[in-house]
This record gives sequence, structure tokens and C-alpha cells, in this order.
Amino acid sequence: MSQRRVVVTGAGGFIGGHLVRRLKAEGHWVRGVDLKPHEFAQSAADEFLIADLRDRRAAEAAVAGMDDVYQLAADMGGAGYLFTGENDAAVMHNSAAINLHVLDAGRLAGVTRVFYSSSACVYPERNQQDAQHPNCAEDSVYPAAPDSEYGWEKLFSERLYLTYMRNYGVEVRIARFHNIFGPEGTWTGGREKAPAAICRKVAEAPEGGAIEVWGDGEQTRSFLYVDECIEGVRRLMESDFAGPVNIGSDDMISLNDLARLVMDIAHKPLSLTHTAGPLGVRGRTSDNRLIEARLGWRPSQPLRAGLARTYAWIADQVARQSER
Ligand code: NAD
Repeated sequence: MSQRRVVVTGAGGFIGGHLVRRLKAEGHWVRGVDLKPHEFAQSAADEFLIADLRDRRAAEAAVAGMDDVYQLAADMGGAGYLFTGENDAAVMHNSAAINLHVLDAGRLAGVTRVFYSSSACVYPERNQQDAQHPNCAEDSVYPAAPDSEYGWEKLFSERLYLTYMRNYGVEVRIARFHNIFGPEGTWTGGREKAPAAICRKVAEAPEGGAIEVWGDGEQTRSFLYVDECIEGVRRLMESDFAGPVNIGSDDMISLNDLARLVMDIAHKPLSLTHTAGPLGVRGRTSDNRLIEARLGWRPSQPLRAGLARTYAWIADQVARQSER
């Protein structure tokens, strides 16, 4: 594989930070772009631009001279950020503006290939009301009825990228990520997602104490460790398949069982209390038939292994914070 000049937008974030490291390890020249530096690690990028990609000129500077673009920047968070309704206008405006500018500037700059990170949140609510039998096959997305504005923006942007492929010949690759987790992601402050929030709560709880789970905890999800997500992104980018395709685990678990698994990893038996909170859909898991058929690969690593690494990293963050 030849060395490429690539830009990762959203490189100061969780998945972007891991992707930069992987692309550098493969020998590519990497530019990272983000509103902020990476919070938890020194970026491995050759060049790092602090820029607001809602601004057209910043988007032009981000893609200038690049062969490939990995567009991961988004106004993003877990259920506590995306599903309360309070941030809907910002989420739609900010993420749509980023996508409009980065994609169009990339086309005019003559980039070859553009990766776009969509989400499982595009899938219709009606197919995710049964915790045990959700349907997230790629072709179930229409008629569209995502349960959040975040999902609607992702669906709009998927369509935007596909039009640039049809009308302008930009080679796009679109993945729908399903709950990616791992070290060096947001773990506190309100934007964290369930695995990080549960790891933090377990790490912070006193021996014999309790942790809170939103709702009755019987809602189901699947969680994919970040290394396998990046593997899927790279395989998709090197393939001739545009997607959209799921990149997620199909190992579904309830939030209560996820909490129990983290307690087991931490050797910390705690009790669960259930409180009201933003929940999202009742059940969700990745359907991996399409990725297997088109890429000859699917995620396969056990949840426990990735969760153990994530718990160790978050427990360390909690310990450092309490020392401060
Ligand atoms: P993240 O929030 O850690 O990273 C996103 C980054 O985008 C942040 O560092 C943020 O500062 C940056 N950003 C936001 N607005 C910007 C702007 N105007 N200009 C420049 N940078 C800006 O999130 P993540 O978990 O790493 O997610 C990466 C991508 O994958 C996002 O597009 C997200 O929607 C998508 N996704 C993630 C998951 C998941 O489980 N983590 C699931 C589905 C989809």
C-alpha cells in the first residue's frame, strides 16, 4: 500500500485520536484538525491544526494538499447530550455545517477518497422497540424515522456524501458506527457514553455502594472496542464498497448486564439503582451480514477484553482526578 497524505477531521476526539495513531503506524503522512487538542494524549499527527470546521476557510485549509479525508468531526455526546432535546439545534447546525464545508472543499481541492462516520442513530425507532429483537440491517433505514435529531443529521449527511459520489465522482466510504468505546474517550462531564459512564461510576463508588443506571436497565445495546472500529474503517477505505455499512458488534447486552460485567472486571460488587434519564431506543445491535459479505470481515473480539482495558484507563483517570 502506498503512502498517502491524509487528514483526520475530529482528530482531537476519541475515535479520531486512535485513527491518527493507526494511520501513522501504517506509514501515512497525517494532518489532524479539531477545535481543540486531544484531551488525553499527545497527537501522533505530523501536523495538527486547531480550527473550526463550520468555517468554510478552515475547511479549505484542512483538506488542502490531501489525498484522503477521514471526516469524524461532529457535535457529539452520549444520551445525556444527544437525547435531552436541549442541544438539538446546535447538533444539527454544527455537524451539517462541518459536513457541507469539508466535503465541498475536499471536492474542489481534488481529494480522492472521503470517509464519513455516520451512526446507528439513523435507524428507525419502530424497529428498535423490542429489546431482544431490534432490526438494524442497513436497508431497514427507510422510511426514515430516527429517534433523535443527531440521527437525522447523520442521515442527511449520508445522502449529501452519496450525491457527491454520484454527481462529482468523489469516492466516498460511509460507515454507521454502533457505540464505540475504549480508552482516551470522554468519560465525565455529560457527553460521555454508557460504557465510559458505567466504568466511571464503578470506579468512583465506595466498596459495597451502589451505582445508578438510567431507566430499568433492561434496554439493550452492543459495544465495539475502538481498535476493531478502526480496523473496519481502514478495511472499508481500502475496499471498493461505498456503504453505508454498519461497523459495530452484534454481541447484544442489557445495560444492567453491562454494569455487572464492569463490576466483575473491577472485582467490586455493587448494587444497581434505577433512575429516570434519557434512554434512546429500547434495543439496538449491529447487523453484520453486509460487512461480512462485502469486506469478508466482521468484528469478533469479546466485549470483556475491551471493557477491561477501558475500565483500567478510566479507573486511573478517576484516581488522578481525586489526587488533584
Ligand atoms: P468525539 O466527540 O470524541 O470527537 C469528535 C471531535 O469533533 C471532537 O474532538 C470535537 O472537538 C470535534 N469537533 C466538533 N465540532 C468541531 C468543529 N466545528 N470543528 C472542528 N472540530 C470539531 O466523538 P467520537 O466518539 O470520536 O466520534 C467521532 C465520529 O464518529 C463522530 O462523527 C460521531 O458522530 C461518530 N460516531 C461515534 C460513535 C461512538 O460510539 N463514539 C457512534 C456513532 C457515530
